[in-house]
Amino acid sequence: MPELSTVDLKGKRVFLRCDLNVPIKDGVIKDDGRIKASLPTIQLLLSKGASVVIAAHLGRPKNGPAAEFSLAPIAKRIGELLKQEVKFSQEITGNAVAEMVSSLKSGEILLLENIRFSSFETSKDDVERENFAKELASYADFYVGDGFGAVHRKHASVFDLPKLLPHAAGSLIGAEVKVLKTLTEKPERPYGVVLGGAKISDKLAVIENLLSKVDVLAIGGGMVFTFLKAQGKEIGTSLVENEMLDIVKELIEKAKENGVLLLLPTDIIVAPSFSPDAVPTLVSVDQIPVDQMGLDIGPNSAEKFASEIVKCKTVFWNGPMGVFEFPNFASGTKTVGQALTQVKGISVVGGGDSAAAVRALGFQDSQFGYISTGGGASLEYLEGKKLPGLIALDLG
Ligand code: ADP
Ligand code: MG
Repeated sequence: MPELSTVDLKGKRVFLRCDLNVPIKDGVIKDDGRIKASLPTIQLLLSKGASVVIAAHLGRPKNGPAAEFSLAPIAKRIGELLKQEVKFSQEITGNAVAEMVSSLKSGEILLLENIRFSSFETSKDDVERENFAKELASYADFYVGDGFGAVHRKHASVFDLPKLLPHAAGSLIGAEVKVLKTLTEKPERPYGVVLGGAKISDKLAVIENLLSKVDVLAIGGGMVFTFLKAQGKEIGTSLVENEMLDIVKELIEKAKENGVLLLLPTDIIVAPSFSPDAVPTLVSVDQIPVDQMGLDIGPNSAEKFASEIVKCKTVFWNGPMGVFEFPNFASGTKTVGQALTQVKGISVVGGGDSAAAVRALGFQDSQFGYISTGGGASLEYLEGKKLPGLIALDLG
C-alpha cells in the first residue's frame, strides 16, 4: 500500500471513511474530538487537489434512517472547523448522490448521511455488503481509510470497499497504530488496563485475552455488575449481561491463575433510577438494594484503583467508571482520570465516551500520553486480533 503523502490525487475523487461517531444530544455535539482528529487527513486530501466524499457512522441505528442518528450536525461542525462549505447528502446511494458526487469540484467536500442507515453496511451477508460497496466505489477513484474507531468491524465501507479501489491509510489510522503497537509489542511493566463503560458484551469478550498480557486489570462502569453478580452478590437493577455470568466466573479464576491483580469495586454509588436528579447513595458492594442501580464506583474503590494505576508504567483505559454525564455519578471516572495523568510512563485513553469524559471533567488532552479515538477497536488491537479494516488497508 502506498503512503498517502506520496500519492498524486490532483483532480481525483477520494472516498474517505472517517470515524465521526461523536456524542450528540438533541442535535448538539458534546465532544468533537473525533471530528478534530479526522481533519488532518481531510486537509491533506484537499491540499492535494482532490475532491472528498466522506462516509461515517453515528451510533447504532437499527431500523434505517432516524433523526437522532443524522450526521447533519457533523457536516456543519466540519464546515465551521475548516471554514469551508461541506455539502451534505441525505441519501447514501441512488441517483441523487451520484449527481452530487459527479458535480463535486476539486477542493470540495461532500459528507454522506450515516452509512449505517443502509442495512447493507453492517450486513453479515458478504454478497450484500459487496454489492453495496460496489455502489460506493462508483463514487470515487481512490479510497482512504481513516476511521480507526470502526476498523474492528467487517463493514462494507471499512472492509469491502477498499478492496475495490486503489487505497491508502489516513494519518489518524497511522498514528493510532503506531501508539498501540508500542503497547502490544513490549509494554513496560507493570502494565494496567482499566475497563468500564456500557458496551458490556463487546468488552467482556476482550478480557480473556488481556488476562494473559496485563499485570493489573481494574473493572468499573456498567460491566462490573456482571462480575459482582457472578460472585453471588445482589446487584439490584444495575446493568447486567446474564448470558455472560459463567464466562465471567471463568475469567475471575483465570485472573487468579495468571497472577493478575483483578480490581473490582468495594463500594458503589446507587440510585433509584437512571436520571441526573436521582438521589445518590453510597453503599458497600455487599449491600446494593434490590430496587436501586449502581451508577458509579464508590470513593474507596476509586482511590484503590488510582493507587494501583499510578504504580504502572503502561496504562490503557477504556470505558467510564460510572455515568459521568450526570455530575452525581462522575467522581469515580474523575479519580481514575486523575490517576492516569500521574502515570510515569505511557497512559492511553481509548473510546469515544471515555475521551469525551476526560475532556468534560476538565482534563487536557496533553495530560495523557495519547487519546485514542478507538474504544472497541483499540481493545481488539491490544488483544492481538487481526482487524478487518486494517487488513483491508494492508496494515493487518
Ligand atoms: P467508550 O465509548 O469509551 O468505549 P462505552 O460506550 O462503552 O465507552 O460506555 C460509555 C457509557 O457508559 C457512558 O455513556 C456512561 O454513562 C455509561 N456507563 C458507565 N457506567 C455505567 C453504569 N454503571 N450504568 C449504566 N451506564 C454506565
Ligand atoms: Mg461509546
